[in-house]
Amino acid sequence: MITNDSIIKLAEKYNTPLYIYDFNGIKNRVLEFKKAFKARKSILCYALKANSNLSLLSYLAKLDCGGDCVSINEVKRALKAGMPKYKIIYSGVGKTDDDIKEALELDILFINVESKMELLRIESIAESMKKDARISIRVNPDVDAKTHPYISTGLKENKFGVDMDTAKAMYIYANNSKYLNPIGIHFHIGSQILDSTPIMQSAEKVIDLVFGLLALKIDLKFIDIGGGIGIKYENEQTIDLYSYAQGILKALNGLDLSIIVEPGRYIVGNNGILISKVIYEKYNKNKRFCIIDAAMNDLLRPALYNAKHSIKHISINKNTIEIPQLLKDKNDFINKADVVGPICESGDYLAKDISLPPTQSGDLIIIESAGAYGFSMSSNYNSRTKCAEVAIIDGKEKLIRKRENFEDLIANEEPFLGE
Ligand SMILES: *Cc1c(COP(=O)(O)O)cnc(C)c1O
Repeated sequence: MITNDSIIKLAEKYNTPLYIYDFNGIKNRVLEFKKAFKARKSILCYALKANSNLSLLSYLAKLDCGGDCVSINEVKRALKAGMPKYKIIYSGVGKTDDDIKEALELDILFINVESKMELLRIESIAESMKKDARISIRVNPDVDAKTHPYISTGLKENKFGVDMDTAKAMYIYANNSKYLNPIGIHFHIGSQILDSTPIMQSAEKVIDLVFGLLALKIDLKFIDIGGGIGIKYENEQTIDLYSYAQGILKALNGLDLSIIVEPGRYIVGNNGILISKVIYEKYNKNKRFCIIDAAMNDLLRPALYNAKHSIKHISINKNTIEIPQLLKDKNDFINKADVVGPICESGDYLAKDISLPPTQSGDLIIIESAGAYGFSMSSNYNSRTKCAEVAIIDGKEKLIRKRENFEDLIANEEPFLGE
């Protein structure tokens, strides 16, 4: 829990916009997962893309987490933060030869393979390096995760993974190769999943394949059941972790595989907030806008997915508010507003048509549940600098990323064209 008092204090000290994370809350989420799966050998490979701040990763490493990485730089972040290499896995549909080579050099647990072509590339690169490539194949079970189309990944029309038959052929090929060592199987059907049924259906399909492989004497060690567990942004009903774990164990049907889980959002989402200041309000005929100093470059989810985040308001300025005479009798109207950023895009909003008491310059607007896919998706659009990040650990604050300045913004650019 981050209290209003500490929000006000941190806003003064570090300025806004600012991300604040509750690391103790993050730890509790990790422990929840561990408890749910404690009956089994399991590894929690946190999905770095949800939030890849190094301090966060090193905190998770101390809680025995590994990392699920979707780029070679995420692999390097995980290692840098102290995650052991035997708990790091590398997924993604488009790994270049250089990426594969580096992953093999870094000797991580395994590479999640997403196509036949990739399997062949890995084999030939491993051969040239005289190395044994540990792999897992990402199966696309063709099950509808019933989530936003942009974050659905387990349907045959999605670019991810390979179908069951192709996967089987790839395992047989890998098993016969001198340089490929198939040790795992993987699925991940989407993100912000609120009903565990599609996950269980996928697990059953994938486990069928594991039995089929066993009959061919291909003996896998790991089943990687992906991430995707949804969280509460507003009033969503979410999946109960314990019954989720029980469902998976039941589907395993006695198979002795180590379970890998790859949660991202579930670990950090509800444990981060984005705080910002009201710059001013603006009335456009029949619309009220609350313009704040955070924008879509700080938190892209509303613009990208039409995502809804709860918004809280802390009144700082106690002056009486001047409401234009014209609006005074339209009570409903002055209680509803769009919360928008300063960026030159109509898609630049943080919330639409929400109830919000009249605000004044300097008041704080808190955007809740912004810990996942918040800072990690932020950009420098409109030449805005990326904001700072603060962690609260056991009641103490720690700056875990400095606010960027103008020099940071232009550091890699050539200022003059020459003669
Ligand atoms: C994004 C991703 C995850 C994490 O998804 P969450 O919804 O944040 O839990 C896990 N595994 C893979 C392969 C991913 O791409």
